[in-house]
This record gives sequence, structure tokens and C-alpha cells, in this order.
Amino acid sequence: MINLILFGPPGSGKGTQAAKLLERYNLLHISTGDLFRSEIGNGTELGLKAKSYMDKGELVPDEVTIGMLENKVEQNPDVKGYIFDGFPRTVPQAEALDKMLGGKQQAVSSLVALTVDDEELIQRLLNRGKTSGRSDDTNIDTIKNRIQVYKNNTTAVADYYNSKDKAVFVDGIGSIDEIFSRLCVEIDKVA
Ligand code: ADP
Repeated sequence: MINLILFGPPGSGKGTQAAKLLERYNLLHISTGDLFRSEIGNGTELGLKAKSYMDKGELVPDEVTIGMLENKVEQNPDVKGYIFDGFPRTVPQAEALDKMLGGKQQAVSSLVALTVDDEELIQRLLNRGKTSGRSDDTNIDTIKNRIQVYKNNTTAVADYYNSKDKAVFVDGIGSIDEIFSRLCVEIDKVA
């Protein structure tokens, strides 16, 4: 099994790279953002709850997020491994993930972080907002809050795995293919 955390701030290219990585390494892509959007689309109670946080650029509470993530993993036991995208975003989420994988005699193989500066992130998110239909990508205050929340709550997740020698940092500026190659160099070391 290979279990990857694709990490980085909002707009750093995780979704784009995850789509290429899952093909190459034959892994199941689990994006908590996509799962929440699907719940919202289906009008579920969980979706309604998540939407109120997402619209402000805040994190959905850990217990909601962790429960949803665990369900998705449980529903897909027979895979070669997972690419977690947008999860974990807090240290308690990371601890819950380690505990869940540990219960299956598995572990996180590597956290691969894409680094992109704030100005580039804001431009990318505003551009994405023109076509994505995501309301959280059209409002500049929501975008700035997401970047701030990432700095306040989420960067600690990289520190957490770095202290276990499991974090690598990859330059997220360049062409999609260039960045993909950089990621593959790192992932091939643990695959
Ligand atoms: P981005 O990486 O561009 O911010 P995502 O699609 O990953 O987009 O997430 C969109 C929103 O969904 C986040 O701003 C947050 O409100 C919520 N969300 C996604 N993943 C998590 C998570 N692991 N914990 C809490 N909230 C989350």
C-alpha cells in the first residue's frame, strides 16, 4: 500500500496533480472538498452543515470531516492505496488518520507539499472562480481567509509529518507537467 497526503494551500494545484497521480500510481483519490461539494449537491444534512463553513472559508469541524473521510475509506477497502487531498487540514485530523490507518496495519507513506506564494494563489483561485462555479473562489475575502486558515491551522500538519521524517516539499510553480515530474521523483522514493 502507498498512502499519500497531497498537501498545500488552496489553489496550489492539488486537485490537478491528484488526477494525474492516481493514474500513474493506481490509487484512490479522496478529496474532502469534493466530498463536501457532493454532499451539498445532494442536499444532505452534512452538506448543509459544511456549506455554512465553506462559504466563509472556515474549516468544517473535525468530527464532521473525520467521520466523512473514514466512511469513504471504509467503503473502498480493496485499493492499492489512497491519495488524500485536502485532508488532513488540522493536527487532530492527522492523528485520526494515523490511528485509522494503524488499525489496518498501514501508515501514511509521505506528505508531499506543493509550495506556491500567496499572490500566485490568489490569482489562480480568482481565475478558477470564473469557471468553477465555486462561490468560495469568487469572493476575495473568502480566498484570503482560506489562505490565513491554512497558515494558522494547516501548516502544522506538515510539521507533524516532518517530525516523523515523512514530509517533502515540492516547488508548485511551473507547468503542470513539470510539477508532476517533481512530485513523481519524490513519490517514487516511497512507492
Ligand atoms: P481548496 O484546497 O481550494 O481550499 P477544497 O476543495 O479542498 O479547496 O476545500 C474547500 C473547503 O472545504 C475548505 O475551504 C473547507 O471549508 C472545506 N474542507 C475541505 N477539506 C476540509 C478538511 N479536511 N477539514 C475541514 N474543512 C475542509
